Amino acid sequence: MDRFDVVVVGAGLAGLSCAKWLAERGRSVLLVDRKSRLDESVHTTGIFVRRTLEDFAFPESCLGPVVRDVRLYSPRRRMLELSSPHDEYRVGKMGPLYSHLLGAARGAGVRFDAEACFRNAEPNENGLRLNLETHGIRRSVQAAYLIGADGANSRAARALSLSSNREWIVGVEEVYDSRSIGSPACLHCFLDPHLAPGYIAWIAHDGEEMHVGVGGYGDRFDPNDSLARFRREVPRFVGFDGLRLIERRGGRIPVGGLLPNIINDRGLLVGDAAGAVSPLTAGGLDPCLRQSALAVDVIDQFLRSRASETLARYESPLFKKRFRTRSLMRRGVASVRSPWLAELGFAALCLPPFKSLARCVFFGRGSFPVDREELQPCPGFRAI
Ligand SMILES: Cc1cc2nc3c(=O)[nH]c(=O)nc-3n(C[C@H](O)[C@H](O)[C@H](O)COP(=O)(O)OP(=O)(O)OC[C@H]3O[C@@H](n4cnc5c(N)ncnc54)[C@H](O)[C@@H]3O)c2cc1C
Repeated sequence: MDRFDVVVVGAGLAGLSCAKWLAERGRSVLLVDRKSRLDESVHTTGIFVRRTLEDFAFPESCLGPVVRDVRLYSPRRRMLELSSPHDEYRVGKMGPLYSHLLGAARGAGVRFDAEACFRNAEPNENGLRLNLETHGIRRSVQAAYLIGADGANSRAARALSLSSNREWIVGVEEVYDSRSIGSPACLHCFLDPHLAPGYIAWIAHDGEEMHVGVGGYGDRFDPNDSLARFRREVPRFVGFDGLRLIERRGGRIPVGGLLPNIINDRGLLVGDAAGAVSPLTAGGLDPCLRQSALAVDVIDQFLRSRASETLARYESPLFKKRFRTRSLMRRGVASVRSPWLAELGFAALCLPPFKSLARCVFFGRGSFPVDREELQPCPGFRAI
């Protein structure tokens, strides 16, 4: 049976970063994903915020042009415009980014097994025996430590007897090649409880790609039907004539906040698997990178010392209180079910004190509470 210091389940942004950074520290790492190719079935829009772009170094070829403007719309399509003097957003070219990260991880010594579905794990005296399945054929590998980076519905969480996500929204979107239209780069967000109950509908246009999507609580709407209705409205807001559809994306986004139990002496959870997503904005890319950098440092120390105290730096209660305000705001947003109430809320947002709040939500630096200074001990973290 092959043996590894660490097995990482899931090669999304969290798993790829963890695998690469651990290998750079000299750890033997196996990264597995059930997909055959990482650039297929991408589920995220891929909007990276300023804070991420400042703290992590992405290859330029994996990012779209800069977006500085946001337009927020009410159910009756009244508009609030927010502009920033900074480069606030860039939409990641996620297929190329995952491929780039995988190349870098392999270059650092990571073994990657595609089409390897993690089934379960049995604890033993050396850590865990992990059972994987490829095309119906089962095999086992031995790991001293397991990282569950397998997304919102994490099997690794269950295998490690850690917490699982219970609250999520569902998002679906279409991606168009929008290089032919002249509309300025802008993130358009639509508050509309019918179209997107508990979240927003969006048009993210950066001059190269246009992402048109809707998100909301799955039991309150039919996402595909909503997207079809929303698409018919798009030409009112941006040029849409003759755009070529590139792909459809979609998936669950956990919005219940960071889960209570995300680490033990056999493994830990990171990214969506840990619920490390802003409950308010549903942004998970920045949190998963920061949490991954911390995870790598904690695991490396733990494998060196075997001291359980080293795991305490990763425990959820340390971070949970920083999620509290956003969780409260999520409760508020989730409770708005009627368009007139959303219209009223929107009218309030146009008043000066609340407009500052809106600016703070769209242009603020809140995220998973691991700051640049705390990332410094993780060598190489900046290079994605
Ligand atoms: C429609 C949509 C739009 C979004 N837009 C944004 C955005 O613009 N900005 C932002 O910040 N966040 C966004 N998010 C959230 C963000 O995409 C996620 O928080 C982030 O991608 C999580 O990364 P991850 O690595 O934790 O998980 P994932 O990207 O979900 O990766 C998990 C990986 O695990 C693999 N896997 C799962 N189970 C197994 C198994 N049993 N065995 C082997 N492999 C397995 C999967 O194939 C997958 O590759 C969006 C989410 C959705 C659904």
